[in-house]
Amino acid sequence: MELYNSTKHLLKDIEWLAQSCSLPHFANHRLSKHEYDDFVKQLTSSNVINNEFVVDYYEKLFDAYGLIKPKWTKSINDEMLPALALIPKKGMCIVLEKLADGRWRCDSVDGIKYHDMHGEILFAPIRIERKNEISKSAYEMFKQVALREKPRIIQAAVATMSINFLALGTSFYSMQVYDRVIPTHGMSTLIALTIGVFIAIILEMIIKIARSTVLDHSSVIMDKSYSHNIFDRFLKIRLDAIPQSIGTLSAQLQSYIAIRSFISTAALYFVIDFPFTLFFLIIIMIVGGFLMGLVPLIFFILSLLTAFFFKDKIEFLTMQSVAASNKKLGLLVEAVESAETLKASGHSYAVLSKWNALSEDAIHDDIAIRHYSELSGYFTAFLQQVSYIGLIAMGAYLVSSTDNLTTGGLIAISILSGRVLSPLSMLPNLFIQWGRAKIAVKDLDRIYALPKDNEGVEKPLFPKNIAPMYRCQGVKFTYSEGTAPIALSNLTIEPGEKIAILGVIGSGKSTILKMLAGLYAPTEGQILLDNIDIQQIARDRLSDTIGYLSQSTRLISGTLRDNLILGLVGIDDTQIMEAANKTGLSLLINALPKGLDTIIPEGGNSVSGGQKQLIAITRMLLTNPKIWLLDEPTANMDDITENKIMEILGTNITKEQTLVVVTHKPTLLRLVDRIIIMTPQGIVMDGSRDEILGKLANAQRIQKEQAQAAAQAADQNNTSISNQEKGQE
Ligand code: ADP
Ligand code: MG
Repeated sequence: MELYNSTKHLLKDIEWLAQSCSLPHFANHRLSKHEYDDFVKQLTSSNVINNEFVVDYYEKLFDAYGLIKPKWTKSINDEMLPALALIPKKGMCIVLEKLADGRWRCDSVDGIKYHDMHGEILFAPIRIERKNEISKSAYEMFKQVALREKPRIIQAAVATMSINFLALGTSFYSMQVYDRVIPTHGMSTLIALTIGVFIAIILEMIIKIARSTVLDHSSVIMDKSYSHNIFDRFLKIRLDAIPQSIGTLSAQLQSYIAIRSFISTAALYFVIDFPFTLFFLIIIMIVGGFLMGLVPLIFFILSLLTAFFFKDKIEFLTMQSVAASNKKLGLLVEAVESAETLKASGHSYAVLSKWNALSEDAIHDDIAIRHYSELSGYFTAFLQQVSYIGLIAMGAYLVSSTDNLTTGGLIAISILSGRVLSPLSMLPNLFIQWGRAKIAVKDLDRIYALPKDNEGVEKPLFPKNIAPMYRCQGVKFTYSEGTAPIALSNLTIEPGEKIAILGVIGSGKSTILKMLAGLYAPTEGQILLDNIDIQQIARDRLSDTIGYLSQSTRLISGTLRDNLILGLVGIDDTQIMEAANKTGLSLLINALPKGLDTIIPEGGNSVSGGQKQLIAITRMLLTNPKIWLLDEPTANMDDITENKIMEILGTNITKEQTLVVVTHKPTLLRLVDRIIIMTPQGIVMDGSRDEILGKLANAQRIQKEQAQAAAQAADQNNTSISNQEKGQE
């Protein structure tokens, strides 16, 4: 039986897979527009959609997604999940789980569906190809990827060699014409030679085109690997280690282009162009003798010295200019991010003057670089001309006074001499690229040295069941050396406990929550989650188990729906709306003309702070995590919304689930049965809610009484003083 009736049907499935499917295997590796268009083209250009074509097509798709080649089977079991299923006439779906009643829950273009999976269905497990490519340093990574391009570089080298050999053709042609054809009027020789050299020229052009195709291909592969590796490495940096200067960081992450372009230019230059210079020198000596070779050799050495004379200067200026333009980008990002503050406080002009100063630096450096590289270029050109004149003079002398050189030989040598010196004119440019590449590697190395999630753990753990309990052993966290640590000495949290953390601002409440979420690693000590060091548990597993609501939640660009199901699989609109009804987010969704499809722009600032929190809490309901870590979840909400959220949390967080909430809203305290009080010195009180509230009320009363007593005493003092004064009068 045919799997698909029409191209259109298959296209619909592919479109869904590429654009809407939320399974991480597909969602975490989106195709580029170019790749996607390619797949569509393959489909529209083929007129038979038989099963063979479909299977082959899906295999190609798996490959493009970096998934292991599918092993097709006729039946499905639990171990294969998540799996792809091709159902005749119905098309493709992704099998997510087996239900108790024997049916299978599937996600497809028509949303979540339940199938009994009877019939001639094709199944294939969806598995990510685990590439073990974790490099210690950026330098290692660049080297590894570049070395993989060795075959193509060698191909290009062979092509360049052929081009250089063919180039000999033109010079020997001139030599033969002057020496053989003109003196003897040999027209047939001329015709034969001309045809020959013409073929050589055509061949040269074809090889050049082939070479540039090979090199372009290689550049694309290198660029893709580099940008993937670098961004992947960036995403794996542990949260507490991510550099704060966003603009500079983003410029640094982009700088791999400089390295790639240096690698491809330099590789060809040093592997091919440079050695060939010597080859041409030898040919010159063979044709014209040692003296004729000596002239270009001397000028070759002089040009080389000139180029290297300018090298340090150019390199230094390039590095300086890159640093200045990175800083500029940093300033730009900062200005965009804090536009509100800048405007409101009237600080814009100060930023503008900083911008101007940086621009000026960058412009000065760029002009200086151009100046030096042009100077170096002019010198090289000058030397080339002098060499040419010297060669002709020496040649003319040899032709007229000896038998060692013919006129044709002289012409051939003058053509070849250009090939000896012209590669040298590339050197200044190469030095600029070298400077850029050097600073890029240095910056990226620094990024690669930052600790990752699960730093130092060879194989992060994926425990199947994690009990929501914590043991903190001598935990301390220091933001930067010299500042007082935030201590969490010996905190224990049992499964199912509901805890509130209270404390003055800056006492480290948010920091503690981030450590409990595994986002920050303690500087000292250990946090055990279900008796496993939390830093050993794979980040993905932690994200499944722990729901963390940050104090400043941010939305990401995409639709509202995307923001609600971030990282979740197989959630349909009914489930989303159900959760949204509970939290009251549905009011916002219904008020938006496009509802869940509303686009959230880059930066995610199109909704209010309270609405962001509402979105995040709705998402938490959908996730239904075992551990709820909430950092001031209702800080930006009105009383009515807050009460509602309070109620929702009360009914939705089960007895087995653990809750830790940071708050200073008394309403939320109804949710908890234990309170921890923090000061910058650490935990000062920890006990049952009523006990702590009682103590706090007591302390407050005592404080009040003391204040009153002090005021009374001061009053009495005052009266007695004024009485004394009166007495003195
Ligand atoms: P709380 O949530 O209790 O108000 P935080 O945990 O956010 O406090 O901060 C605790 C302390 O750590 C504060 O003194 C704060 O200044 C400092 N701090 C917070 N974040 C950073 C950071 N990213 N870099 C340096 N210091 C920080
Ligand atoms: Mg805080």
